Amino acid sequence: MGGEIIDGKKVAELVRQSVREDVEQWVKKGNRAPFLQVVLVGDDPASVVYTGTKTKACRDVGIDTNTLELQDTISAKELKGIITDLNNDDSVDGILVQMPLPSHLSQYDVIESIDHRKDVDGFHPMNVGRLSIDQPCFRSCTPAGVMELFKYYSIPVKSKHAVVVGASNIVGSPMAVMLSRENSTGKATTTICHKFTRDLTTHTIHADILVVAAGQPNLIKAEMVKEGVVVVDVGINRVADETSEKGYKLVGDVDFESVRKKASWITPVPGGVGPMTVAMLMKNTLLAAKKSIYP
Ligand code: NAD
Repeated sequence: MGGEIIDGKKVAELVRQSVREDVEQWVKKGNRAPFLQVVLVGDDPASVVYTGTKTKACRDVGIDTNTLELQDTISAKELKGIITDLNNDDSVDGILVQMPLPSHLSQYDVIESIDHRKDVDGFHPMNVGRLSIDQPCFRSCTPAGVMELFKYYSIPVKSKHAVVVGASNIVGSPMAVMLSRENSTGKATTTICHKFTRDLTTHTIHADILVVAAGQPNLIKAEMVKEGVVVVDVGINRVADETSEKGYKLVGDVDFESVRKKASWITPVPGGVGPMTVAMLMKNTLLAAKKSIYP
């Protein structure tokens, strides 16, 4: 037994159902369907799978989309030119450039060239900045999905001690910001850990809520957490598995079986945070089409 399972698949489907209904209403009122432009540079197999999952999810909720497939030799200037055209195109509501980019392109420059009003990934400095001062913005999909899970399961966050392991720009940092803001949903006392943190356990052991996004299989073990902790495992790692047809399986950053015994709530991998990320992207695209964040 042990902690209850936070079912991200179920909650993601509820979010998607609500977006589907809103899109239907929006179109019934005479508006065109929201449109998400996905941009894929190169043919990295994981990126091809991710963009495929996102466009399929869009169509499933009535959002129009297509993927612009660009050669991995494209220059920064050419790519920025394409993004500028998309920024100026009124029929495009959301722009998603799939990361990572080939090494000759600066991720930061490319993100900054996207109009922040179309930045449905929530990565643009304008959105990141507004998040940090508690203003309406497009919120990074993965941490926004985690906050949605807390809300759905009525897991209290306010005044709790939240510990985030991982400090990347797309997951760990915005997660810590969302948990810690005083005026929005968070209101938790928040500690952020990263690869330079000395003795991780001295922090994780005090967590009421532990969000792990480090990309390190089995980083968090039972002896590192206290009884009753809420554990959210964002990690997605491929590890060799001879019993599987593919030769690998997906695991998170948390030793699920042992940690579950001490946890009050825990997300599985897969089926935890992953489906929420895509669902929140749908939500952001609808908000972009309705100009709800930036009227
Ligand atoms: P990243 O590599 O950009 O960042 C990893 C972070 O973890 C860094 O801040 C690093 O300092 C920290 N870290 C690494 N090793 C550590 C250690 N031993 N102790 C403490 N901190 C450590 O990765 P990311 O893009 O933030 O992704 C993190 C994980 O989440 C990956 O497994 C990724 O696949 C997964 N992910 C999942 C989703 C989802 O939808 N579920 C979305 C994005 C990323």
